[in-house]
Amino acid sequence: MWRASLIGSDTQLNQASYYEASVQRPPPGEPLSGSLQADVLVVGAGFSGLSAALELAQRGLSVVVLEADRVGSGASGRNGGQAIVGYASGQGPFEQQLGQVDAQRAWDMSLEAIDLIDRRIAEHGIDCDRRHGYLYVADAPRKARALREEADDLQARGVAVDWAEGDDVGRLIGTRRYVAAFREQRSGHLHPLKYALGLAEAARAAGVRIFEHSPVTSLRRGPVLQALTPQGAVNARFGVLAGNCMLPEYGPAVAPDIAPRIMPVGTYIIGTGPVNPDLAASLIPGQAAVCDNNFVLDYFRFSADHRMLFGGRVSYTTMTPRNLQGLMRDRMVRIFPALRDVPVAFCWGGFVDISMNRAPDFGRLGDNLYYLQGFSGHGVALTGLAGQLVAEAVAGQAGRFDVFARLQHRRFPGGPLLRTPSLALGMLWHRLKDVI
Ligand SMILES: Cc1cc2nc3c(=O)[nH]c(=O)nc-3n(C[C@H](O)[C@H](O)[C@H](O)COP(=O)(O)OP(=O)(O)OC[C@H]3O[C@@H](n4cnc5c(N)ncnc54)[C@H](O)[C@@H]3O)c2cc1C
Repeated sequence: MWRASLIGSDTQLNQASYYEASVQRPPPGEPLSGSLQADVLVVGAGFSGLSAALELAQRGLSVVVLEADRVGSGASGRNGGQAIVGYASGQGPFEQQLGQVDAQRAWDMSLEAIDLIDRRIAEHGIDCDRRHGYLYVADAPRKARALREEADDLQARGVAVDWAEGDDVGRLIGTRRYVAAFREQRSGHLHPLKYALGLAEAARAAGVRIFEHSPVTSLRRGPVLQALTPQGAVNARFGVLAGNCMLPEYGPAVAPDIAPRIMPVGTYIIGTGPVNPDLAASLIPGQAAVCDNNFVLDYFRFSADHRMLFGGRVSYTTMTPRNLQGLMRDRMVRIFPALRDVPVAFCWGGFVDISMNRAPDFGRLGDNLYYLQGFSGHGVALTGLAGQLVAEAVAGQAGRFDVFARLQHRRFPGGPLLRTPSLALGMLWHRLKDVI
């Protein structure tokens, strides 16, 4: 049955989340019981599933969303909130596999994904502390050269950048830790759980039926799909699998064909108590989100109530690192010594769905079952686009979805038991390179 270990550690990692502590959730509805019909069944109420459900309902289809836990309780409600242009993989896999024309389409869609967030916020009145502004930083000369290439590439693609190096970096960020930095205004950040709850409300208003605490434990494929939960069933003409890393945990038999193509990698965030707004503005002017270009990233920003939300560390073994809060705090203080005496009030984490080439993995199983996964840490914006593309495909316009569906993805070797240790070993080399 369910592999309690990953579900258990995932649930545990959401216990002390700043986001959960800063929202008022609506009371949970009843889990699904009995049998329902729908045009489309969506598995998972994260950004991907909610975006798909909303778009499908807006096209006049009847939609049921089944969520194992609560709306936004997965990666979507706990992430760094950083909505970033482009793909974790860069353009490489798109150019190599699809050619320049479709690679360019994919790039344009990544910009559209950012605009879609703003459009939805405006259209549905979602209050989620949205800000524009993003800072990329490098902490060593070798990495500064890579950062310059990234800045030039973005500029060539039409995204204006403000570059700084040496002492000039202090203009963009209040630390001596970085030797180069650049800022752009397309990317930015938001409160992810407020955004997820807002999307769910918009979906419900459009007629979507969302059932929380309703894990899909099995799915029969065919012209009519049938999903089973512990107390109910949904029959539908189309299905969308948007369960991310937990899909095989709740329902090992739901889609064993796609599970080995992503790897759950743990990543973590601490949230401090509120700091003086002037101090916050001096450390990160202009309320930007920040990310370095190390292999194991530090990503951070101030929340709307002036808490430092500092993300980083990774676990390739799915085990939570020991003394996590202390380690994260040390990293934060190394960058911002002025935060030394600010208490850490929250520490949480979750699992990122990494694909082998870090490009998103969208596709079909048969004619009527779609899947969305492999966002590889770039899901805040791309999940919204993914939901829109699925809705287009279900409505018979699959051209844009198929740009992604044509990408080839490899399985992680070793099966469920061996793939985490072998990945952990492989990653050690890259982590060592971060200190050079
Ligand atoms: C700590 C952390 C920080 C991150 N930071 C960033 C960031 O700053 N920027 C960025 O772009 N990305 C970031 N990401 C990645 C981003 O959060 C994800 O890519 C994105 O949220 C994935 O959305 P999703 O809807 O596909 O998955 P999820 O949000 O995980 O939703 C999947 C849902 O499906 C449910 N589910 C699973 N199986 C079943 C089943 N069998 N039946 C019913 N329900 C099921 C789960 O309970 C879950 O609610 C981060 C991720 C983490 C964990």
